[in-house]
Amino acid sequence: MSNSLLDALTAAELHCPVIVAGHPDYDRYRRVWNGIADRRPAAIVRPQDAEDVQKTVRAAASSGALLAVRGGGHSLPGLSTCNDGLVLDLSLIRSVVIDNNALTVDIGGGALLGDLDRATVPRGYIVPAGIISHTGVAGLTLGGGMGWMSRKYGLTIDSLLGAEIVLASGDITWTSPTWNPELFWAIRGGGGNFGVVTRFRFQLHPFDGIVAGQWIYPIEQARKVLSGLRDRARGQSRDFTISFTASHAGVNVTAVWSGDAERAGAALSPFGALADGANGGLENLPYLTLQSRNDVAFAWSRRYYAKGGFWSDISDQAIEHIIDAIARAPAPDCEIYAIQLGGAIRDVPDDATAYTGRSAGYYWLSEPIWDDMADDDRCIEWGRTTGRLLSDSSIIGNYVNEQGDTGSNIARDAYGAEKYQRLARLKARLDPANLFRLNQNIEPQE
Ligand SMILES: Cc1cc2nc3c(=O)[nH]c(=O)nc-3n(C[C@H](O)[C@H](O)[C@H](O)COP(=O)(O)OP(=O)(O)OC[C@H]3O[C@@H](n4cnc5c(N)ncnc54)[C@H](O)[C@@H]3O)c2cc1C
Repeated sequence: MSNSLLDALTAAELHCPVIVAGHPDYDRYRRVWNGIADRRPAAIVRPQDAEDVQKTVRAAASSGALLAVRGGGHSLPGLSTCNDGLVLDLSLIRSVVIDNNALTVDIGGGALLGDLDRATVPRGYIVPAGIISHTGVAGLTLGGGMGWMSRKYGLTIDSLLGAEIVLASGDITWTSPTWNPELFWAIRGGGGNFGVVTRFRFQLHPFDGIVAGQWIYPIEQARKVLSGLRDRARGQSRDFTISFTASHAGVNVTAVWSGDAERAGAALSPFGALADGANGGLENLPYLTLQSRNDVAFAWSRRYYAKGGFWSDISDQAIEHIIDAIARAPAPDCEIYAIQLGGAIRDVPDDATAYTGRSAGYYWLSEPIWDDMADDDRCIEWGRTTGRLLSDSSIIGNYVNEQGDTGSNIARDAYGAEKYQRLARLKARLDPANLFRLNQNIEPQE
């Protein structure tokens, strides 16, 4: 570790664990979700409260150390770790406090989606978020946040009421529609560019369960399944959301209904009859089970890449690209995934938040998953090529959270020129030295 970082951390008099190479837990805490991001930070600080975060941010700034901020550790390109620098690991800050009168929930900046769902769902409430329970609330929310309940209740940021945030200066502040509103606009889609969020406050929504349908079709039926799925998904109510995953194993169609349970069968069953050979059916499964049943398929330490974008609808051309891509996939778990958007996401004007792409009908991902380092190049190349082809039928805007590549063009392309400039101006005001640069970075510019 550089002397200046060590000195700064010592001077900070932290009241929390600081882990350096040689510590028995170093290898455990330096791991992140994507096995490709096998990096060796100089120090990992595990703050217990906003004051620890404040001191650590100041130590990083004064020593000039590279700073990575980690919530759930699920950054696709491994942006929540680094070589030689400092990792600020928020995983000890994950309390969940529900206010039954205000119908709000406060949750720590290191909490996982499972922490949120386990606290809210059994009480009959929900905050719309993602679909895998071990994903971090912080990274997901700061980019936008989409999942099964987004068509009904909007993106995760659309339920955000406020956040406690530690700025690059080390100041701890609050941001909401009425307090630091420009910052509040920026953190709803602008990622981790503006500070370390130690606490989020979300609006709770009523929730009384779901019905899900899941069918796996032979891959040979992909053309029929995907065009039929597209046609039947059009015009569905906000209680309905569909997704598909195409891979060597077939086309996995999952449809979720979150409205009146008596109407679920009529809404979902047609998706089990899109082509011959469907295997599956309807399930009255608990929401917490739905949220965790793919946790193992996306387990920690496997190797991942992703390139994604928005479609207004599933075009015939995209379907042909998907069929070709699966035929040349270099590993069994090279997948193309898409989830239906629209509904409540479109109720919010596009310029109301930094997130860009509210008119989209679907979010798609080209997503190779593999285990052997020897397959890195060909799997990543497949992911990139497939992503480029699927981008042909994509619309403007993008989701910064599910891109395996980095570089200043990612944020510029995602937000568009006007929003990017607005974000860059705020960045110049709040983080002129670009301390928070391990993210889909917005470069400070007046
Ligand atoms: C298995 C898997 C499933 C996913 N499913 C979905 C899904 O259903 N819906 C969806 O919308 N997205 C989904 N994503 C994408 C997800 O939103 C991003 O990977 C997100 O960055 C994960 O957040 P994290 O806190 O786990 O990540 P981390 O790697 O911890 O952080 C990612 C970045 O977020 C910033 N950050 C993290 N914590 C903080 C904090 N407390 N304060 C400030 N900045 C912070 C940092 O810039 C960091 O580089 C999924 C990703 C994975 C890997």
